[in-house]
Amino acid sequence: MVDVESRVEANGAVYRTLLESTRAIPWKIDWDSKQFAYIGPQIEALLGWAPSSWESVGDWASRMHPEDRDWVVDFCVAQSQAGVDHEADYRALTHDGHYVWIRDVVHVVRRPDGTVDSLIGFMFDISERKRTEQQLVSLQKEMEELSFRDGLTGVANRRRFDAIIELEWSNARRNRQPLSLLMIDIDYFKQYNDRYGHLEGDACLRRVARLLSSAATRARDLLARFGGEEFVLVLPETDAAAAAKLAERCRELILAEQIPHASSPLPVLTISLGVGSMIPGHGDEARAFIDAVDKRLYQAKQLGRNRIMAG
Ligand code: GH3
Ligand code: MG
Ligand code: MG
Repeated sequence: MVDVESRVEANGAVYRTLLESTRAIPWKIDWDSKQFAYIGPQIEALLGWAPSSWESVGDWASRMHPEDRDWVVDFCVAQSQAGVDHEADYRALTHDGHYVWIRDVVHVVRRPDGTVDSLIGFMFDISERKRTEQQLVSLQKEMEELSFRDGLTGVANRRRFDAIIELEWSNARRNRQPLSLLMIDIDYFKQYNDRYGHLEGDACLRRVARLLSSAATRARDLLARFGGEEFVLVLPETDAAAAAKLAERCRELILAEQIPHASSPLPVLTISLGVGSMIPGHGDEARAFIDAVDKRLYQAKQLGRNRIMAG
């Protein structure tokens, strides 16, 4: 028969073995003195700091990333004072100067009178999980980026144009600045596809997009693929004269490339453009402005293509 005392001792040894072999790192802090009563030896394998170097909560706080420290300490102290179990994720400093993401799960032990006696917790190494999370976040960003970009030409897509035109429209209205818009459409592009094939057509669209991007140079100028073989250039703080000049530069750039187009009268690839400029007033809508510029593009086509129609 084993007596009670050795049974307790045996159990104690079992618990100790369990505590010290788990991957979670157990610890205990005495609340009155703010001193560590215990920390699992696994802490040294994870962070490089010997268990004996964990004396007070000050050691814990000082081995935390400066960006995490204030909120984590404030949060944990407030929760502990209120007697509420809690958890916090933060970057713990390693002995050789790196950081490891930790999740600290804390249980508040209270005395019968309700006052806080101690904190008992487990630290979990969550760096792998955080890495995955961060990869997801950057993947998400990349996807957002991609979803604003036209897959074929790499310039902004229609979605982005729709968002930017609204933004620039209200900017222009607020600052009483002229906003200009160029609608650009490739001439006889259906014939181009028919003659050279769809893949050549795609390559041609990429080339045109690249040329048009090089024409607009200011930081807020936006070239977007409006659809099919149509592009649009948004030109903030640009008046009618400057917009007309830029339209002419675009037309000449494409012409100068001498992209063969045997089914076009010239026989090289050309574009037609509609141009509009205005300082938006209070009743004005971007939609109507875009429609007006689109009508001018249509007129440029009617008048024979390879030309610019400005308002
Ligand atoms: P216009 O001079 O009046 O502009 O005549 P068009 O032939 O250029 O205009 P239309 O609107 O009749 O035809 C546009 C063509 O553009 C038809 C379509 O197949 C082609 N197109 C649209 N998107 C793409 C694309 O992503 N790749 C290729 N290769 N062709 C495209
Ligand atoms: Mg066309
Ligand atoms: Mg078209």
